[in-house]
Amino acid sequence: MKTFPLQIGTPDGLLFSGEVERVVCRTITGELAILAGHINYCTAIGMGQAHIILPDGSRRNAACIGGMLSMMHGSCSLLATTWEWEEDIDRERAEAAKTRAQEKLNQTQIDEQEYKIFRAKLQRALVRLSVNDH
Ligand code: ATP
Repeated sequence: MKTFPLQIGTPDGLLFSGEVERVVCRTITGELAILAGHINYCTAIGMGQAHIILPDGSRRNAACIGGMLSMMHGSCSLLATTWEWEEDIDRERAEAAKTRAQEKLNQTQIDEQEYKIFRAKLQRALVRLSVNDH
């Protein structure tokens, strides 16, 4: 299968640079898969599971939260707020974040700002747990 160059960066630095057969992530409007030959394109990334398929057919899963993806002249650039490879996800930490967020959201006295913050925390924890589900 044809490959194309992909770079994945976060504020922490470059996390991946190389040829891939496919990159899949969730955008703000739904699931997106980029393959070689995709037209020039740019979109905002949402929150969800992501993966890349390497030239040998192997797959690397990740949690991807926010950012921008562009495909320009055959080259793909994914600049994410958060990109965590499956093996780097600390499951205990995500479970603890999920519990904390659920407890906070169950409180009756919670203002709108706190609600938004903890709802987002809960969503991030659930994405991490869905990627690292064993
Ligand atoms: P927590 O309450 O555990 O900090 P959070 O969702 O508020 O969770 P973020 O603000 O999204 O955390 O992330 C802060 C930093 O910590 C980022 O660099 C992110 O990649 C990392 N991080 C957060 N949770 C995990 C996790 N479960 N495993 C690995 N890295 C994590």
